[in-house]
Amino acid sequence: MSRFDPHSWCDGDQPAQRHLDLDLTVDFTARTLEGRVRIHLTKPSSGPLDLDGRDLVIASVTNQTGAAVEWSVAESEPVRGDRLRLDLPAGTEMVEIAYQTAPGALALGWLEPQQTAGGTYPFMFSQCQPIHARTMVPCQDTPRNRVSYDAVITVPSPLRAVMSAESVGEESNGIATSWKFKMPQAIPTYLLALAVGNLEGRDLGPRTRVYAEPETVEKSAWEFAEVDSMITSAEKLFGSYEWDRFDLLVMPPAFPYGGMENPRLTFLTPTLIAGDRSNVNVVAHELAHSWTGNLVTNATMNDFWLNEGFTVYAERRILEEIYGREYADIQGVIRRNALQVNIDQFGPGSPYTKLRTDLGGTDPDEVYSLVPYEKGAQFVLLLEDAVGRDRFDEFLLKYIDHFRFQSITTDEFLAFLEKELPGVYEKIQGPRWVEEPDMPENELPIVSARVDKVRELAAGWAGGTRPEKTVTEKWSPEEWQLYLQDLPRKLSADDCQWLDETFDLSSQGNYEVLVEWLTIAAGSAYTPALPRVREVLTVVGRMKYLKPLYIALMTNEDTAKLAREVFDEVSDSYHPLSKGSVAGLLKG
Ligand SMILES: [Zn+2]
Repeated sequence: MSRFDPHSWCDGDQPAQRHLDLDLTVDFTARTLEGRVRIHLTKPSSGPLDLDGRDLVIASVTNQTGAAVEWSVAESEPVRGDRLRLDLPAGTEMVEIAYQTAPGALALGWLEPQQTAGGTYPFMFSQCQPIHARTMVPCQDTPRNRVSYDAVITVPSPLRAVMSAESVGEESNGIATSWKFKMPQAIPTYLLALAVGNLEGRDLGPRTRVYAEPETVEKSAWEFAEVDSMITSAEKLFGSYEWDRFDLLVMPPAFPYGGMENPRLTFLTPTLIAGDRSNVNVVAHELAHSWTGNLVTNATMNDFWLNEGFTVYAERRILEEIYGREYADIQGVIRRNALQVNIDQFGPGSPYTKLRTDLGGTDPDEVYSLVPYEKGAQFVLLLEDAVGRDRFDEFLLKYIDHFRFQSITTDEFLAFLEKELPGVYEKIQGPRWVEEPDMPENELPIVSARVDKVRELAAGWAGGTRPEKTVTEKWSPEEWQLYLQDLPRKLSADDCQWLDETFDLSSQGNYEVLVEWLTIAAGSAYTPALPRVREVLTVVGRMKYLKPLYIALMTNEDTAKLAREVFDEVSDSYHPLSKGSVAGLLKG
């Protein structure tokens, strides 16, 4: 037996999945997907085959000849879920599993019409990363065993289904529509993705289209109009784009993340639509995953930093290419601040602040943080700094090309690094970054005059320095965000009032600035801002905003009561992932 992934029952000694055929019907009333999956194996096989599943109701298992395949739930663990043990008859090339998902399936978010922009039709979407594909389809749910897939998804008319795949037609009988998809490239199962709603598309360029509800599609098309040129910039850095299309899907506000890099169809939170194109960094991040992530990704969640660290680095390179170094730097400083908050929350010496982690028995969602992202990106920057940008760019191209369409371990990366850039890992004290907790002393400082000015002003707050309106008028949303990040977490009611009234912060359209301000207001128990906090917690499901707001409310007794009250009232409308993570915070 060779279980190489602590979050999967997949056994490396058993046959591997190669291709999935999905045929599923979406039932909004029952909140289930029902139908079948055909799992094609890499070669004809017999004997045991362990699959991952969680809360699936399995009706039958057969092979390509129609012969019944014996199966059982052999084992079950809280984090890993069910081990579905199949006993394959000799010569089995394909197993067909008829099944149904559970209404509470962790991957699936089900929204009532009133939670959508249009208010008329329901909406559903999946979020399989990190380990939730097994709640949507029985499979070897480890990134290591990539699959291609075809799918037929039947939904009530006039709703539209979209997937992380090419749309290849539809058939409708007026009551239900079957949407057909083809995904020829092999992906890790966490990139399986489905969304269903009242969706319309607008072309943005030859390779890009944005999908959204009709009510938000024009605004979305305007906000993301520059995405096609972004792909061209990224190709200059990382090589040609391998996924044919880069379409965007703007989700309802309950979506738990900023974006999810589902290939061919990135999912995005509508909180990015600020009306000023100021949140393109998230699009740059998801686009960067097309190389660092979807093309070369982590073999298991212990190696997650390979996926996110390289992607944050690549994101900043794209931003630098398009908007200049200063813009990329200010993003870097903002995120470095947010990383420190996460490191402090874990506490000094925490194993979760290492790049290579050991998450056996640990739910990756519970220890989700910016460490693999920002500490990972800092590590990559050090590599670049050690060999110079030109040589590092060559290395990066070679790395992506060498491991394309593979999911690799930290050891595999380190061996490649040593071969291509001998001695560099040692020189930058690599083990201190990869194997040890906290931030090493040799991280590269970001030098930026624009950043320094804002930080100086914030540092003077306690001594009575206040920003002049003539100065802040010229600030970008990023400068505002940085300024607020650097202010004390608890302010007097007078100070809160002055800030809010002078700069109109509670009515900000940019969520990054708004939530940064509301986090201070909530932590300071500043009563006039609490209705706005409640409103954000009610409307938005993005964990990046929910978590700091709930944490801030929990620091005061009175506002902690409010936090519990709001959560009880609205948490059924959160995606199961957001709901679970906030419930954990409220327990303390
Ligand atoms: Zn990412």
